[in-house]
Amino acid sequence: MKEQLLELEERALKEIAAVDDPAELENFRIKYLGKKGQLTSIMKNVGGLPPDERPKIGKFANLVKTNLSKRFGEAKDSLLSGKVSRDGFIDVTLPGKEPIIGHLHPITSVIKEVCQIFSRMGFRVVKGPNVELDYYNFEALNIPKDHPARDMQDTFYISDNVVLRTHTSPIQVRVMETRQPPVSVIAPGKVYRRDSDVSHTPMFHQVEGLLVDKNVSFGDLKGTLTSFVHQMFGSDTELRFRPSFFPFTEPSAEVDILCVLCGGKGCRTCSQTGWLEILGSGMVDPEVYRFVDYDADVYSGFAFGMGIERIAMLKYGIDDIQLFFKNDMRFLRQF
Ligand SMILES: [Zn+2]
Repeated sequence: MKEQLLELEERALKEIAAVDDPAELENFRIKYLGKKGQLTSIMKNVGGLPPDERPKIGKFANLVKTNLSKRFGEAKDSLLSGKVSRDGFIDVTLPGKEPIIGHLHPITSVIKEVCQIFSRMGFRVVKGPNVELDYYNFEALNIPKDHPARDMQDTFYISDNVVLRTHTSPIQVRVMETRQPPVSVIAPGKVYRRDSDVSHTPMFHQVEGLLVDKNVSFGDLKGTLTSFVHQMFGSDTELRFRPSFFPFTEPSAEVDILCVLCGGKGCRTCSQTGWLEILGSGMVDPEVYRFVDYDADVYSGFAFGMGIERIAMLKYGIDDIQLFFKNDMRFLRQF
């Protein structure tokens, strides 16, 4: 049995000297030192030897095991550090491995920035489900089944009554259902529509805001959104409120900023108008309060929503929305 052990030791040492990757090293460990390994199975037979041979062979087998374990440990260390050459010389002049440091995706950074601006103004960040009941996505926002406004949004239906939310507005309803005023929340999240071109993707991000309290006026809406635009795009950014229509706000207004590219002279990005639309807003329609049992005679409020990709495109001067989701590192590294 001693010969067997010697032969095994010699063979194993030759093999480990040639190992140069972690998988090979692990195979080595399993082959010789593992529970079903060759050395282990020889050692199991020691018990069957005549009593006078047992201690001697046992001791020898243990020496072989210790030696192989030691060499295994050394090989492992050298593979891990990558700095030890075959003859054991450590080259301390080799450059260290620079760790790859990632950073936030531009969309994530913009969401964070928008939420931080509104948090400072007292809005609380809330979330809601991506897969939403038709009731919250449409009905309770004053968009009944036959309402023409449903054509404004190409919806992904899961079933007759379940959709992928087309906007973050359903979160408003969920918040109002569970809390009495005053409420002031900001709700970021993914939304889904059947649309895809240079300015649309089937999934994109919105941030929704809602504030309801006693005596909230359109002036509060203007003040809040003006402050947001100035913090987001710079304090000298010109903006305007343009009358618009949304089923769940009345009156409604879209907010435009003076084109960041041409400064209002008119260019391709602003379709020669000099203005860029950045968000939709309005006073919450009293019809919506009916769904959540708020007293419309006592409370009033405003809501607004914006597309994050749109904000990011304007902030960074990007002309193709698809770039955000292609995961091309050359694009992402620029932020
Ligand atoms: Zn322009």
